[in-house]
Amino acid sequence: MDIPRIFTITERAHRIHNPFTPEKFATLGEVLRLEPGTRVLDLGSGSGEMLCTWARDYGITGTGVDMSQLFSGQARLRAEELGVADRVEFIHGDAAGFVAQEKVGVAACVGATWIGGGVAGTIELLAKSLGTNGILLIGEPFWRQAPPTEEVAKGCLAGSISDFLTLPNLLASFGDLGYDVVEMVLADQEGWDRYEAAKWLTMRRWLEANPDDDFAKEVRAQLTSEPVRYTSYTREYMGWGVFALMAR
Ligand code: SAH
Repeated sequence: MDIPRIFTITERAHRIHNPFTPEKFATLGEVLRLEPGTRVLDLGSGSGEMLCTWARDYGITGTGVDMSQLFSGQARLRAEELGVADRVEFIHGDAAGFVAQEKVGVAACVGATWIGGGVAGTIELLAKSLGTNGILLIGEPFWRQAPPTEEVAKGCLAGSISDFLTLPNLLASFGDLGYDVVEMVLADQEGWDRYEAAKWLTMRRWLEANPDDDFAKEVRAQLTSEPVRYTSYTREYMGWGVFALMAR
């Protein structure tokens, strides 16, 4: 069981697999006023940067679940490196349907809401692990500027304009599901650059090392087209943020 190989090629050198920077994760941990010992569940935990740095900086304990064997392994190494391996665990597996054995204070899905079949389903899934007055974290894209045409939405790699909401509409949708939005930290274009532009050098180096791989043609095509596509579309139109929610 694993995620499509293209991601483990293009994002193998990423510590954070979304448009957040280390500073943004630190800000998020700070504004949530995390108490030492708080249990945090993270579905789609990637290379574990959020849980590992929060364990180091705020004394949380955590469980991450991720379907990528490579990223889960990187997360365990990161925990060792930061000296928090006794406080965070990383499970390699499908997070769909995953419910924590003990209730948690924070239940997160940061940039992987397809795990619950969309935002609403993921909120429902996370809520099953959450203790009373706990906080849900949802990391999700939104339209920073509404795309003028469906073609622009496709340029952003969205299926259609209706795949994402504007920021006010996204916040309203959380209200419609019965949740207060109690905090939010938004990515910026620099953060998008760290996520997207960092893939280009990774792809270039991978191509040098793997010229005869079955994926070389696809990776070559992406490296050729991605810089112009990204700056024409995603960088201009897509926003991204992590939203902290509490049931009303
Ligand atoms: N939250 C992390 C990773 C976001 S990228 C971060 O902020 O860095 C999305 C992650 O979801 C990837 O690590 C991918 O391996 C993982 N993923 C995709 N489908 C999954 C599934 N069904 N169950 C668990 N993890 C999944």
